[in-house]
Amino acid sequence: MKKAIIFIIPLAILLSTGGKKEVKSNNPFFNTYDTPFEVPPFEQIKAKHFMPAFIKGFEDQKREIKTIINNSKEPTFENTIKAFAYSGQLLQRVSSVFGSLNSANTNDSIQAINRELSPISSKHRDDINLNDTLFKKVKSVYDNRAKFALTDEEKKVLEDTYKDFIRSGAALSNEDKDKLRKINKELSLLSVQFGQNLLAETNGFNLIIDKKEDLSGLPEGVINQAAGMAKSLKMDGKWVFTLQVPSMTPFLQYSDRRDLREKLFTAYFMKGDNDNDHDNKAVIAKIAKLRYERSHLLGYDSFADFVLERTMAKTPEKVYSFLGQVWKAALPVAKAEAAAQQELIDKEGGKFKLAPWDWWYYTEKIKKAKYDLDDEATRPYFKIDNVMDGMFYVANQLYGLTFTKRTDIPKYHPDVNTFEVKRDGKHIGLLMIDNYPRLSKRGGAWTGSFRGQSRDINGKMITPIVTIVTNSTPPNADKPSLLTAEEANTVFHEFGHALAALLSNKTYPGGSLPRDFVELPSQIMEHWVLEPEVLKVYAKHYKTGEVIPANLVDKLVKSGKFNTGFVTVEYLAAALLDMEYHSIKEPVDINIREFEQKAMDKYGLIPEIKPRYRSTYFNHIWAGGYSAGYYGYIWCEILDADAFQAFKETGNIFNKEVAAIFEKEILSKGGSKDPLAMYISFRGKEPGIDALLENRGLK
Ligand SMILES: [Zn+2]
Repeated sequence: MKKAIIFIIPLAILLSTGGKKEVKSNNPFFNTYDTPFEVPPFEQIKAKHFMPAFIKGFEDQKREIKTIINNSKEPTFENTIKAFAYSGQLLQRVSSVFGSLNSANTNDSIQAINRELSPISSKHRDDINLNDTLFKKVKSVYDNRAKFALTDEEKKVLEDTYKDFIRSGAALSNEDKDKLRKINKELSLLSVQFGQNLLAETNGFNLIIDKKEDLSGLPEGVINQAAGMAKSLKMDGKWVFTLQVPSMTPFLQYSDRRDLREKLFTAYFMKGDNDNDHDNKAVIAKIAKLRYERSHLLGYDSFADFVLERTMAKTPEKVYSFLGQVWKAALPVAKAEAAAQQELIDKEGGKFKLAPWDWWYYTEKIKKAKYDLDDEATRPYFKIDNVMDGMFYVANQLYGLTFTKRTDIPKYHPDVNTFEVKRDGKHIGLLMIDNYPRLSKRGGAWTGSFRGQSRDINGKMITPIVTIVTNSTPPNADKPSLLTAEEANTVFHEFGHALAALLSNKTYPGGSLPRDFVELPSQIMEHWVLEPEVLKVYAKHYKTGEVIPANLVDKLVKSGKFNTGFVTVEYLAAALLDMEYHSIKEPVDINIREFEQKAMDKYGLIPEIKPRYRSTYFNHIWAGGYSAGYYGYIWCEILDADAFQAFKETGNIFNKEVAAIFEKEILSKGGSKDPLAMYISFRGKEPGIDALLENRGLK
């Protein structure tokens, strides 16, 4: 649910050697990749290669644009839109590697390059988007679109290209274009700064424990994990908990030490809000203000109006009304959950009021009493390799895909596992999976790509190279990686995004799904995780191989609707906060702490719950492309709950006919069709909100 997904500029690039012998450059980006499936040769790529490749990439694309502009013939789809769609291939080639590494395996050099690059990229994009002659040509093709015989995909590419130009300011006066350029440059720098501050803040705190008695309540697995973390930080003999979710959450669930829970969780929710060198308050206040100014220049009332125009929801009113309906259903449930916890605290003789750092601890206790279930009891059945086998099995049953581990393919980090994906013996693409936290990786889980599926300019198929990056519980000296049921769910979720990227079948490069549709392929995969037919295939005890007992599964399923008031409310609070920042209708200097408090008070968020992301570490909306779009996860839940029913209704969760229609109408389309039309082609009708509320036990 809370996973970020970033599609890192999916475009394929094959440098043509034109049949001549290629003269090898010492910069790998300038050569044909001499590797299996032309995977980037990671071991040859050094930080010093990026900047020269970017610079040449900018120059190449400028030259390609010039060719389009200087063409004296009447503008056509072929000589303008198609030529534009295929421009900038070297740039995509280097961007996809740089972007992926900057998120999953960064270092000081990459971060320095990113700071230097960001304003140059922003200027390059503006030079194209604000180019008057180019825009006139695009507009001419768009205005005369009835004259051209175009495929449905081409019609969508043309419309998107035209609208992208308008939305980037192509129709503005020169004076306003200059203002826009300034804003874009500033925004590009601010989002880099936000991300770098956040990484520093996340890595800047450790809860170090040196007395055994301070580990009270923690299960053995959690203690070993913390000992391993201490060792890796050269603090042998101690125990370390970090602000990474897989390290922090078990501590909050199990530690009897209320003071230490408070210390750890406070450090988490104060990230970026410590009035130090890495404080993000001023950064995000500037971002919110500049985003408003930008949308105002472009003729919109607010940034949310600007963003939502291109989504399924279309308007802020629609989003607010939808979030409001779910909030109304969820808040009373969360309040009842808080009351039940307070009751337990009182019964135990604790003379304090439930606080945010208590929530996980008492939830765990109540869950244990109610369902006789705790995370540690199920972990042994969710060994990460088994979980991956499970998701591969589902993809095989539904879509006939096979996944074969390949060890001969370059990887950007030793933790990466690479699989070749085939169907009927035919190569479909590669999937790289990178599961464990490290200091060089940002938090969360996401799906990206080193190469997106498309066809090259001559129509030849380019197969995708897709990546799944997570921060799952790592193995330690005694145990392999054993996941919680929620972590297993996350892996299935990202795999759903990966399937959409792998089964994409379009012609033109680029294009992406709107935020309030992109979570349909991922969230629908979550429905298979706990299906008994799937569990019996993969959920096997890592030592004995015994399949997870039916009564444990029953408990898992029943407890799935437990604590959903909290889960829904903490998510909705963040989604509403996102909407509030992006609905401002004047250029105000926001006081972040006040703004956040006021926004939450307005909806009546109870003090025992913090928004899933507070403002200063809300990467999704300040740097992750989810601005005015974080609501998309729960919006998509309407779709995935209803779409999974299409399988259920047939009495067969592996119904191949339904899967074939889902692939054809949804997965294969990428951004090449209107989302609502896509959904209706699949299901025959629009979905309602009921399946979502039912799913969450909020009805
Ligand atoms: Zn996702």
